[in-house]
Amino acid sequence: TASLADADPAIFQMIGKELGRQRDEIELIASENIVSRAVLEAQGSVLTNKYAEGYPGKRYYGGCQYVDEVETLAIERVTKLFGAKFANVQPHSGASANLAAFMAVMQPGDTFMGLNLAAGGHLTHGSPVNYSGKWFNIVPYSVRQDDQRIDYDEVARLATEHRPKLIVAGGSAYPRTIDFRRFREIADSVGARLMVDMAHFAGLVAGGIHPNPIEHAHLVTSTTHKTLRGPRGGFVLTNEEDLAKRVNSAVFPGTQGGPLMHVIAAKAVAFGEALQPSFRAYAKAIVDNAKALAETLKSRGFDIVSGGTDTHLMLVDLRPKNLTGKVSEEALGRAHITCNKNGIPFDPAKPAVTSGIRLGTPAGTTRGFGIAEFKQIGDLITEVLDVLSQKGTTEDSLVEAAVREKVKTLVGRFPIYNG
Ligand code: PLP
Repeated sequence: TASLADADPAIFQMIGKELGRQRDEIELIASENIVSRAVLEAQGSVLTNKYAEGYPGKRYYGGCQYVDEVETLAIERVTKLFGAKFANVQPHSGASANLAAFMAVMQPGDTFMGLNLAAGGHLTHGSPVNYSGKWFNIVPYSVRQDDQRIDYDEVARLATEHRPKLIVAGGSAYPRTIDFRRFREIADSVGARLMVDMAHFAGLVAGGIHPNPIEHAHLVTSTTHKTLRGPRGGFVLTNEEDLAKRVNSAVFPGTQGGPLMHVIAAKAVAFGEALQPSFRAYAKAIVDNAKALAETLKSRGFDIVSGGTDTHLMLVDLRPKNLTGKVSEEALGRAHITCNKNGIPFDPAKPAVTSGIRLGTPAGTTRGFGIAEFKQIGDLITEVLDVLSQKGTTEDSLVEAAVREKVKTLVGRFPIYNG
């Protein structure tokens, strides 16, 4: 019955320091967000004690009557949110959701197509270091060199040549709206299934400002913790009953054991929040803010991959400033602006160095930053990076300290988790 502070002061203090970091820094990691207290509370609940292998009404354990209600409500909400007929809300993560979706429609050795990691795809879309690239025959597609957008003609050509079982659309660093209709036409033309991994932009779909992939895809997978602003986790959607059954058995017993019922409760809370009208305004603000940040950086001499963004994220090409992603991420970090280095399409630099940084607006928008704040953030980024570029150094402690002070003032106006 002791509180965490009393029972385990070491962990309690580490959590406290992490809360301080989240409060004090401008969070620009495109895959992160700041969940509500309600989501935190559900995830930190006694549901963590419960085993519930199986599905509502068909469990392998007793005492599941209440967790059945929780999972049923989570399914009801997510299917309503995305207009899908069937959902599985048990995947522990986005990677687990993708593994289950693959298992539902492919055997090891089968061929599938996914966006190249170097062009913005995710590890689970066929990277050679991931099971998806080891167990399946991956045919990657890429973006065009000139405008850095998906080359749909190349996708069609590769599909005709390799006749994949599955085509995967979606990615982790692709800033543009994807033409799901075109992907479905290509899939249909070769008898493949289409899977859209909407992990990054799910919140924008939920908020009604992004095309909804369920209207075109056989399977839609997602995480819950990015733009959707829920706990860390995944889910799978489909409109086809046969596929829904196969996904269910691929999740359990195919690839997982007991579901994380406390996380499923937190997912249900987040889906409930995303069903509120205020979430539409949030989603629109995310995109407006991203465009404002991208425009500001462009006007300060940075290149933005593909010339801008339609979504919550952008890739900044640092080559005009003669800087690497690694140096820039570290310098911005010291100034309390958090982001990640990221390869740009056809990046000449190594993956541990890169020529780019990926920036996103979901977390800052949750705090309440608007266009004015994101323009200011663009200026702060420029202040930190331009001095390095001009002096040809990797660190300028005076400028970084000055920006840290400005960040402190800015985040102080938009507190999180206070009271
Ligand atoms: N799919 C996409 C497109 C992603 O961007 C990510 C995470 O970055 C994942 C899947 C994997 O999600 P997780 O980290 O929850 O396994």
